[in-house]
Amino acid sequence: MSDSLRVGLGFDVHRLVEERPLMLGGVAVPHAKGAEGHSDGDCLLHALTDALLGAVAAGDIGEHFSDADPTYADAPSHAFVTEAADLVANRGCAPVNVDATVFLEEPRLLPFKAAMAERIAALLNLDRRSVSVKAKTMEGLGPIGAGGAVAAQVVVLVRRAEP
Ligand code: MG
Repeated sequence: MSDSLRVGLGFDVHRLVEERPLMLGGVAVPHAKGAEGHSDGDCLLHALTDALLGAVAAGDIGEHFSDADPTYADAPSHAFVTEAADLVANRGCAPVNVDATVFLEEPRLLPFKAAMAERIAALLNLDRRSVSVKAKTMEGLGPIGAGGAVAAQVVVLVRRAEP
């Protein structure tokens, strides 16, 4: 891989249903509803996984971690991030920084954003100041605005590691 810098983009959305935990960035956010999904439904970590894979053009989360595979039933999503980060490293690259946005109507994520960023920084061996987690509501618009879904988008920059 000859480029010294590469960018990866990830997006994910999950329906919110009762009797599921709301995991975001590896942090359990107290809420009456949580993300429906085969794994723990952590859409922020799923978007991060796709961003890491995208940065080295290594496919997407569905190719690497099939939702038909019982291994991943209720799996903690940090395992996907760790495996994608290993793949990035195997291609001779290392993450530089992460910028993420979570789209959720409620609860407000202000009290949880720092913990999410710290968790992501720890997973990727990054300085805490190299990870940004932002939160937006949808101003009541669409299924996310109605409280029926949560989404996340993530961009990650990777650089070719020194030989
Ligand atoms: Mg997902």
